[in-house]
Amino acid sequence: MFKTETYLDAIRSSIDDFCIDLEREGYVREGECAYTRAINDHKALFISLFGSQDVHESEEYTDELVHFCVTNEIPYMFVYGELLTISRNLMRLLAEEGDVENLKRLSTYFDKIEHQITIAYFHKFLRRLAAKNHIRLSHLSNLVEKNLMVHYQQHIEWMIKLIDYVQHLEEDYPYPELNHTLCTFGKWLHDASIPYIITTSHFKEVGLLHQNLHNLASDVVSHPRGKLSKPKNLIHLMQRIDYISLEIGNEIAILNDMIMIEEYSKDPLTALLTRRLFEKVMQSQIEISKATESPCSLMMCDLDHFKSINDTYGHLAGDAVIKHFAETLRTLLRKSDFIFRFGGEEFIIVLPSTSEANTRKIAQKLCDFTAEQEISFEGKPIRYTVSIGITPIAIDSTTYILKDTINRYVAEVDAKLYLAKQNGRNRVE
Ligand code: GH3
Ligand code: MG
Ligand code: MG
Repeated sequence: MFKTETYLDAIRSSIDDFCIDLEREGYVREGECAYTRAINDHKALFISLFGSQDVHESEEYTDELVHFCVTNEIPYMFVYGELLTISRNLMRLLAEEGDVENLKRLSTYFDKIEHQITIAYFHKFLRRLAAKNHIRLSHLSNLVEKNLMVHYQQHIEWMIKLIDYVQHLEEDYPYPELNHTLCTFGKWLHDASIPYIITTSHFKEVGLLHQNLHNLASDVVSHPRGKLSKPKNLIHLMQRIDYISLEIGNEIAILNDMIMIEEYSKDPLTALLTRRLFEKVMQSQIEISKATESPCSLMMCDLDHFKSINDTYGHLAGDAVIKHFAETLRTLLRKSDFIFRFGGEEFIIVLPSTSEANTRKIAQKLCDFTAEQEISFEGKPIRYTVSIGITPIAIDSTTYILKDTINRYVAEVDAKLYLAKQNGRNRVE
């Protein structure tokens, strides 16, 4: 219909402007070369569409154009805007020429093209959205350790139901739970009780996003059913829902990492901290010590003749002794002390704001208390003792902390422990 060169030029220049917008918004991805090709394909498709000879050809080009937009995740509103610009430019051209006849035809033509593009976009977009969510679901199902991601998986299952509903809008198809407190994910959000998670801003953000998403889903469901009227609104709503759903995924992933760090930093046998966190804790404690000018100390414990406990009573009995000693540490030390299982039956403790004299008192108490205990394993009584080394961390505000500084303190406290062993065990040095 618009075969003359003048018109095609007008179309080309509108598309050029649009492509600059696409570039600015970063819709066409990666690599200079792939990007240029995508933009050129896009231009060619639009021009072919407007140059098409008959309905069949025009539908084919619409299909290709929409496929391009959907796979490059170019939002519908962008494509619609492009169409409007082309239409306006052509109308201005025809008005300047006083071509009233063609002006009328142009307006009908654009309505038709717009409808064609909208319907094609709607179906392709939903198909892609469903496929993307199925892929997300399969990634989530493959996770070995799901932790919180199991709840996101439930949310994705809900998303798939919603997309299914929209894809079957012309039939009597069920939709998922609309109340944001009653869907599986919403129930979890409501009942979640992991303290260091629910107090974070990320958790609160998930709550808000989720509520928002459900409001949009209600709008989707209240959209007139039966025939596909105004698919434009539905596309827009579903694009926003998809966006929010991804945001929820990101926030849940952050919360999940927090849980992983918390759990991985705990030793499975004793639930004490592991060596992995030791350096970080030491660094921050030394900094705090410098800033507050209060002393901090290091204590290292090693169970005595542990090999012979294993040999006499078995490895499981050895494990029970390690757990028993960990419990003793938890009971006798303060909540603010950092207790690490450093190796097999070796423990290191960072005692913030504690002088050398006080650390010695605490260590002696630990030593005496342990020697008085008798634990029972499978009916057999077991007694054990511990040797302890202590060292103050003497830092003044001018000391610069190097990685080596921490190693030096560990070597120092280790030497003290060795001395305790040499001096007869079951003692503090
Ligand atoms: P010492 O008084 O000099 O410390 O003697 P020890 O026998 O405790 O000496 P050493 O540190 O060489 O031996 C520690 C033993 O602890 C060796 C190892 O088999 C055992 N062990 C290490 N980790 C575990 C564990 O998780 N469970 C059990 N049951 N035994 C462990
Ligand atoms: Mg030992
Ligand atoms: Mg040892």
